[in-house]
Parts: sequence; C-alpha cells; structure tokens
Amino acid sequence: MSKVLVIGCGGVASVAIQKICQNDKVFDEMCIASRTVSKCDALKEKIEKQGVSSTKITTAKVDADKVSELTELIKSYKPDVVLNVALPYQDLTIMDACLECGVNYVDTANYEPEDIEEPVWRAAYEKRCREKGFTAYFDYSYQWAYDERFKAAGLTALLGTGFDPGVTSVFTAYALKHYFDEIHTIDILDCNGGDHGYPFATNFNPEINLREVSANGSYWENGHWVETKPMEIKREYNFEGVGMKDMYLLHHEEIESLAKNIPGVKRIRFFMTFGQSYLTHMKCLENVGMLSTTPIMYEGREIVPIQFLKALLPDPASLGPRTKGKTNIGCIFTGIKDGKEKTVYIYNICDHEECYKELGSQAISYTTGVPAMIGTALVASGVWNKKGCVNLEELDPDPYMDMLNRFGLPWKVDENPVTVD
Ligand code: NDP
Repeated sequence: MSKVLVIGCGGVASVAIQKICQNDKVFDEMCIASRTVSKCDALKEKIEKQGVSSTKITTAKVDADKVSELTELIKSYKPDVVLNVALPYQDLTIMDACLECGVNYVDTANYEPEDIEEPVWRAAYEKRCREKGFTAYFDYSYQWAYDERFKAAGLTALLGTGFDPGVTSVFTAYALKHYFDEIHTIDILDCNGGDHGYPFATNFNPEINLREVSANGSYWENGHWVETKPMEIKREYNFEGVGMKDMYLLHHEEIESLAKNIPGVKRIRFFMTFGQSYLTHMKCLENVGMLSTTPIMYEGREIVPIQFLKALLPDPASLGPRTKGKTNIGCIFTGIKDGKEKTVYIYNICDHEECYKELGSQAISYTTGVPAMIGTALVASGVWNKKGCVNLEELDPDPYMDMLNRFGLPWKVDENPVTVD
C-alpha cells in the first residue's frame, strides 16, 4: 500500500486522481495539493460522495514554484511518490523538493521555462539550438541533469507518463520486446477526431498547447535533427474510428528520448491532426501577438498576451460535456524480425463521450491522466524500480500494457498497417 501526493488539480489531474481512487489496492492514501485548493476540495467531495473507493483523501494548498513550500508539505505528508500534474514550469522545483525529502518523482511533460526571455535561460537555449539543431523551448537536458542525484539518493524520477510522451514510449518498448529484433523507423500518430462545437479551443492547457503547435517542427533522421517550418510537412491518414484526417509534423519530446534509448533507430517522426479552422485561428492569433509570452504594459498593468488569451478561451476542463468523437493515438514501427522486414502499428482508440460518462472529462485529459496513474502505481508498488531519471521506454512494458487494458485505454496491434510516406 502506498501514499501519493498529487500536485495540480486541472484537467489531467482530475482524471489521474479518480483513477488513483479506482486503484485503491495500490493507493490507500492521497493528498491533492494545488495552487487553488478549492478545486482540490471540490474533487475530493465529488469522489467521496460516490463512496466507491477506499483511498483516504486529504487536500492542501501549495505554490509549486516554491521549493520551500513543497518540502514543507512533503515532509509533513510523507508520501512514497509525488505525481506532478501541474505544469512543465514546475518540474524542476518539484524534483528539487523530492530529492531534498527522499521521495520518488513522476511527471507527464518535460521541463520548459515560463519566461523564455529570461537572459540566463535564453543564452543556454540558444547554445542548445546551435549544438543540437532543434528550437523547441522544451528539452530533456534540464531533467536528465538530475540523473546522478536521483541515482545517488536511490530514487526514481519517472519522466513523461502521459499518452505522448508516455504510452507511445511504452508501445515502442513493447514492439521491441515482442515484435522486432531492431526498430528502424517510428511514426507517432496523434489524432483527435473530437468536436466540441466551439470555433476555437484547446484540449489541454492553452499556453502549453499553443506554444507546442506554433513552434517549428522537427524529426530525427540518421543521427541528427531535421528542423521544419511550423506545419510544413502535411500528410493524410485514415484513422480507425475517426476517418481521413490531415496531420502535420511537429517536434515532440519523446523523439529526443527514443533517439537516445532505441538502438539502431534511423528515423522518428511525430504527426498530429489539425483541422483547417484550428490552424487559421491559431495563425491569426499568432500574427497579432496573442501567443507571445513576453509581458506587455496595458493600461498601466503588465499582462502576458498568451495568459490573457487563456482567460478568454474555454477552460479545457469544460469541454467534456460538449465533445463528441474519438481519439486514435499510436505508433507505426518498421524494422527487422528474424532477418525479415516487418511493420507493426500499436494504437488506442478512446471515445470522448464515454470518458465523460465515466469521469466527467474529455478524452485528451483521460488519455493523459490514466497513464499518469499507471506510471505512478508502477513506481509506488516497486514494479518499476530503476533508479535515476528514467524515460518509459527504458522499462519493462508488459505490466504497463496490462494496466492500460484494465484502466480504460485498451490497445490494438495491426501487423499489416498502411504506412506514412
Ligand atoms: P491545467 O492547466 O488544466 O492544470 C494545471 C494545474 O496545475 C492547475 O490545477 C493549476 O492550478 C496547477 N498549477 C499551476 N501552477 C501551479 C503552481 N505554481 N503551484 C501549484 N499548482 C499549480 O493543465 P492540464 O491538466 O491540461 O495539464 C497538466 C500537465 O499535463 C501539463 O504539464 C501538460 O503539459 C501535461 N500534458 C501531458 C500530455 C501527455 O500526453 N504527456 C498531454 C496533455 C497534457 P490553478 O487551478 O490554480 O490554475
């Protein structure tokens, strides 16, 4: 039995927390801590009213930007593991606090700074762009730099247990374990066929989402990064459960870890589907400066344009009751087995309306929150106990694949899929 401290209480957290309660054989106690404690209290009340879980829930207020507040909370609650489902901005402060308190750490997204104009960060970023050849604001170097410290402390920091990254890394490890001697190419396809009826909204935190999709794309080929302009590479794919969709090549964080951890891989690409209306809205907002993270003065007050935009857009958590349709996310692998060429597609289809019926959330939060719980459970129960900073493809995929089936994200394997050119 174990005790988990969950930090953050937004869209993804709300699913992870409810799934933790469904897994009360592993988690007998949970503290939900966030900046706005009323959200934690409301979720606790909702779960307790249902009366189906034996997990004992408490709540707390914490500013996860402050290591001192985090260490005070961790020292008083004494969890076995901390699940960070706040924002990527808080990754390093929460990792610092976990190290100070001797507790395992789990998250769903790699570090990126809130202020990308901060001079010290900016100089390091520009050096990295020149040396590595991709310009995304996030990369694993900040968190991988904690590896030796987590190892020395005998602790695990499990990095990126959402769907992508997360399940996509586990699919890769599973393909390598059961279907290939060597994987040569990986195409990760992320399709959201959901319709929420709004002209424009993002499916998870708008600031993080819009930063990601308005950036340059990139992919890994023959040992180096190839960078593209935003939305420069477009393909069409016919997704089971959704139909034909346009998809665009994006930079994505698991490309970096898979390139490091999958021996012999020659190319890794990531595609996400977008409708034309979404792209037109985004381009317009970008052109007028609304996606900027640089503060401006407005009527004597400093505001950050993208944060102001976030206040105007629908709260992703509110999309649940309106969203119809399905997601289909998975990976197409090519490689060699017993000297012969082989292609395998592993994917999950998730229905927005069914997610809402079960937990009151749409499928994007659901497909991230379920894997967040699974990774946390495997660390908490010691099934995954590799020390240091660990990406999911480095671990045995079988227990995770089994839990995906049991906790709402069943997957399929197609050994004769259509590939992407
Ligand atoms: P939300 O914006 O819905 O929720 C974020 C939560 O973090 C809110 O409860 C917020 O509190 C809290 N928070 C923010 N800053 C602080 C702080 N300084 N101290 C304490 N709490 C804080 O985001 P999502 O749920 O959509 O996303 C959560 C995470 O999941 C993000 O890191 C995102 O990148 C990641 N993600 C990963 C995916 C994957 O597949 N790997 C896919 C989608 C998301 P408040 O209520 O006060 O705002």
